[in-house]
Amino acid sequence: MSVLREMLENLFSRPFTILYPKEKVPIPVGFRGKIAIVDEKCIGCSRCARVCPAECITMIPDETEIEVKGKKIVRKKRPVVKFFRCIRCGLCEQYCPSEAIIMKCQLSESGTDKEVLVQ
Ligand code: SF4
Ligand code: SF4
Repeated sequence: MSVLREMLENLFSRPFTILYPKEKVPIPVGFRGKIAIVDEKCIGCSRCARVCPAECITMIPDETEIEVKGKKIVRKKRPVVKFFRCIRCGLCEQYCPSEAIIMKCQLSESGTDKEVLVQ
């Protein structure tokens, strides 16, 4: 009897699922989404690579002139991230001294190629 009632209730109620990706769910504040690097802010300090527990950040040689507190400096390295190895812990963002590596408030793409990079 209760099964029949539940069937009838579900028949006339709204669905619990949505038609993703056509419909989007609201993303909460503080969501750890897709990782991004703001290249002109990066000073090449390697902190992000040192704290990353998934070892998905590699520092590569890169001599680029950047501005830090009004002074021009030439950094020696910059990070690249293996995007699909990232576990979204947020430590790189937390420890970056110049807010150059951030977790965007957007859903990540999916994939299986662990070698895909964020540069
Ligand atoms: S958020 Fe990703 S890239 Fe950043 S420290 Fe964690 S695992 Fe590494
Ligand atoms: S992203 Fe931040 S922590 Fe990583 S090397 Fe650049 S400045 Fe340093």
